[in-house]
Amino acid sequence: MIPYSRQTIDEDDIEAVVEVLRSAWLTTGPKVSEFEELFAQFVGAKHAVVVNSGTAALHATMFAAGIGPDDEVIVPPITFAASANCVVYQGGTPIFSDVKTNTLLIDPEKVESNITSNTKAIIAVDYAGHPCDYDSLRKIAEEHHLIFVADACHALGAEYEGNKVGSLADMTVFSFHPVKHITTGEGGIITTDNANYANQMRTFRNHGITIDHHQRNKQGSWFYEIEELGYNFRITDFQCALGISQLLKLPKFLERRLKIAQHYKEAFASIKEISPLSVDHNVKHAFHLYVTKVDFKKLGIDRAILFTKLREKGIAINVHYIPVHLHPFYRKKYNVGLGLCPIAEAAYKQIISLPIFPTLNDDDVEKIIKSLIELISG
Ligand SMILES: *Cc1c(COP(=O)(O)O)cnc(C)c1O
Repeated sequence: MIPYSRQTIDEDDIEAVVEVLRSAWLTTGPKVSEFEELFAQFVGAKHAVVVNSGTAALHATMFAAGIGPDDEVIVPPITFAASANCVVYQGGTPIFSDVKTNTLLIDPEKVESNITSNTKAIIAVDYAGHPCDYDSLRKIAEEHHLIFVADACHALGAEYEGNKVGSLADMTVFSFHPVKHITTGEGGIITTDNANYANQMRTFRNHGITIDHHQRNKQGSWFYEIEELGYNFRITDFQCALGISQLLKLPKFLERRLKIAQHYKEAFASIKEISPLSVDHNVKHAFHLYVTKVDFKKLGIDRAILFTKLREKGIAINVHYIPVHLHPFYRKKYNVGLGLCPIAEAAYKQIISLPIFPTLNDDDVEKIIKSLIELISG
């Protein structure tokens, strides 16, 4: 079965992990800070704070942003639920703000109309790997004194007007889950230019303890204090060794993803029933997902049947995402539902994600294209 995504692990990745397993430090050792430094350098940010998942990274940004009860945070509905769950973890309220039809990225105009006196932050998602409207969103955030967080879990290596994603918001989050651009098994990271945010997130990932064991060691002291409630969101050194090894290969991984995307685009250009999401001229897309709209209603085809038929051919397509505000948890807790974000709700009925990952070969790409066109026109 061809999955929609999967990791790429080579012998040298395995060796990098094994080397750490033989060393003195399994966690909070030298590989953690080495990975943070390399990652910050790669995206062009001053600081990087690595944690044990992308979700923990999002949670940490909400802590650093000071989100609490009565605070509203504007989020898009077309994303993985963690982009909104992180607001709820801190007791805040996620305000779902609709997306643009052509890219399914949060619409800055709608963001502006959803701002109230309780709004404290905006979380924008670089959906599928397409950078959000960073300039407009940053301007809105500045004007209204809001904290701008980018969920770039899809967009490692993407660029907006020539600048790397990771350097364009107050805090930017990445995930290292195996389906993402690079993996540490589970893992996540936040990049920021703000030293205060970085320090708060380092404290947050370590129970809220203000000085870590390295600093205590230096001072020759046992004393530490918990000033705020934190969690154990630490990541291990062997995971960071894997992250370092993977980061070196990112340019190659990206190149292959872009090539596959180009291949799909050319193949579907003449098929009017298949409409891939558009790509703005001022970005470099990172193609975590290859999302296309199909007008199932007009075609008289049921998406679930297409799903099953492709699976019978060994191709696992997917749907990203069920709009977050339609999940029972959100419907019940915040009394939201159908009608809140009509563009997202309509798009949801049409989108499918086609397989895209570095080791997907040309023959498989051809097979996917041929099978999809056949099923849709037949
Ligand atoms: C993967 C992902 C996350 C969560 O990352 P985990 O590492 O799986 O916790 C958050 N937001 C988006 C948009 C994602 O794709």
